[in-house]
Amino acid sequence: MGAATSWRLAKRGVHVVCFDRHSPPHAQGSTHGESRIIRTAYFEGAWYVPLLQEAFPLWRELEAISGERILTMTGALMIGDATSDAVVGAQASAKEHGLDAELLDTDSLRRRYRGHVVRDGDVAVLDRQAGVLNPETAVGAMLAQVPQVVRDTEVKSIAELRSSFDAVVVAAGPWTPELIDWIPLRVERQVHGWFSLARDADWFGPDRFPAFVRQSGESSFMYGIPSLDGKTVKVGRHHDGETTTPQAIRRRVDDSDVDPLRLLTSTYLRGVSGHVTRTLTCMYTNTPDGHFVIDFSPEDARVVVISACSGHGFKFAPVIGDIAADLVCDGGTKRDISRFSASRFAASHVPGDHGDHD
Ligand SMILES: Cc1cc2nc3c(=O)[nH]c(=O)nc-3n(C[C@H](O)[C@H](O)[C@H](O)COP(=O)(O)OP(=O)(O)OC[C@H]3O[C@@H](n4cnc5c(N)ncnc54)[C@H](O)[C@@H]3O)c2cc1C
Repeated sequence: MGAATSWRLAKRGVHVVCFDRHSPPHAQGSTHGESRIIRTAYFEGAWYVPLLQEAFPLWRELEAISGERILTMTGALMIGDATSDAVVGAQASAKEHGLDAELLDTDSLRRRYRGHVVRDGDVAVLDRQAGVLNPETAVGAMLAQVPQVVRDTEVKSIAELRSSFDAVVVAAGPWTPELIDWIPLRVERQVHGWFSLARDADWFGPDRFPAFVRQSGESSFMYGIPSLDGKTVKVGRHHDGETTTPQAIRRRVDDSDVDPLRLLTSTYLRGVSGHVTRTLTCMYTNTPDGHFVIDFSPEDARVVVISACSGHGFKFAPVIGDIAADLVCDGGTKRDISRFSASRFAASHVPGDHGDHD
């Protein structure tokens, strides 16, 4: 989010300095692992769709100026039973915005996607305006547009910067609670793994196997990325991770992390072996309702804070960067960000409490 904001500000000719405590792209926060899903039939809320429709051309703009390949269109499947949030929500977004999406019944799902084990009653929304982004390449490409990136330099307080700059945008991901205490955030450890494909499983390529989110039960979500190397698929659980902090996170991945992923792949995917070639830990920074915060500080209208994660923010990065640039340059934005105000948590929030709010 910081790289995206810096890119969009630099594009407007603003003198912007991007500070990072690490040297991005890096694997210490939330933006690594070579792939992130972007989709449009958004089950999390139809109000995200206009932002998503803006995101695609901005990602293409970034590709054009950098010469890098960042977005691979694969389509996306939201799989679940007909009453699941993933299916119902994706359908509602598609209907409201007239999206290129299709409801697949159980038979069609079975027929078209051999890689999925389809149970009786499983259906899916096929979202054609969807694909996979490469986060490391994207961050590198955005920062290449920013004249001044100060790496390996921790900002200790917002006040420290505020005296030297006209405005400050805080996009500190899971470190945000160290800098501000007026958004209730819970940092969650997440593990994803790359599973080897069986020798004859040739149905996982990005041209034939859409990225997917699969809901089983009320709140259990897994996601998968088509095989980008021809040898593995990347699979993760959405949420269900332990509460952590960037300092305390358990980086070592053990059987208690891999076994649930192995169970999901053996239950829901056909042609994937139990062999894991790689794993990664990453962090979600969750708001209580799973939606983003993009807002001014209640104490200082020259400070903008972005917490655009809750496990689904990356796809929006260039739009959110542009919104932050609007807020800094114009004091407001024409995009509807009313759902992302921090004040929605004001009543329930005890300042300084960063406990488990989910
Ligand atoms: C496993 C996993 C899978 C995901 N899958 C998807 C997906 O498929 N699709 C999707 O859209 N989203 C997905 N997300 C969410 C998405 O990756 C995040 O929303 C997004 O990357 C958040 O970026 P960020 O800039 O907020 O945080 P970060 O990437 O963590 O960046 C914060 C930056 O701030 C720097 N920083 C922090 N504190 C300071 C300080 N005091 N001084 C200087 N620098 C500081 C850090 O070094 C870091 O570079 C996923 C997330 C994870 C973890």
